[in-house]
Amino acid sequence: MTSSSSGPGNSCHYSFKILLIGDTGVGKSSLLVSFISNHLVDLDLSPTIGVDFKIKHLTIADKKLKLTIWDTAGQERFRTLTTSYYRGSQGIILVYDVTKRDTFTNIADVWIKEIELYATNHNCVKVLVGNKADKESERMVTSEEGMAFANEYKCLFLECSAKTRSNVERCFEELALKILEVPELLKEGSAPAKRNILKQKQDQRANHQGGCCS
Ligand code: GDP
Ligand code: MG
Repeated sequence: MTSSSSGPGNSCHYSFKILLIGDTGVGKSSLLVSFISNHLVDLDLSPTIGVDFKIKHLTIADKKLKLTIWDTAGQERFRTLTTSYYRGSQGIILVYDVTKRDTFTNIADVWIKEIELYATNHNCVKVLVGNKADKESERMVTSEEGMAFANEYKCLFLECSAKTRSNVERCFEELALKILEVPELLKEGSAPAKRNILKQKQDQRANHQGGCCS
């Protein structure tokens, strides 16, 4: 069930919509920039980036994938994202900061609940990511706690650092690999996905005028 010509000028087998969620300041934008750039970046730039989404092409398990990765452009400050943000996503990355316990407790108290309310694919793949693992001396959440949470909520789990890029690629790759194992998500990841994403982009522009750049 592959669609090898799913859009103009691209020959990917599947197109997946991936979301980054979690409290403000945990490093979502930094993770995205770090993943997209393929090299160490100046993270001080990230708060001003305010991206809507970025696209990355990957080949995993012999499949050419197009990942459209959505960042919140600051809306997560209000602890609630629009339903269009969640709609149609095949993968969700839940990010907390290992040096800030409240960002970890909010994964259960806020973000998992948002997914339950708004995600339209109930079998979408979730990855729990403990970011800023480079700040070992300031750590407040242990790896064991992260792992236990991920087991309970059926998420993949990784700790990473957008600063050193440690585990950054792995987190997106493992997510994509897992999505490839879910037939219902693959069906959605074929041809029509692109149209949905364009529509969501328009919705978002209408909702947040002038707030974003690309
Ligand atoms: P967002 O609000 O979740 O998008 O978070 P940002 O990506 O804007 O990052 C918030 C702050 O944390 C910025 O000052 C980043 O430089 C810093 N930061 C992000 N990731 C890391 C990391 O892995 N390690 C360290 N030490 N700092 C990070
Ligand atoms: Mg951000």
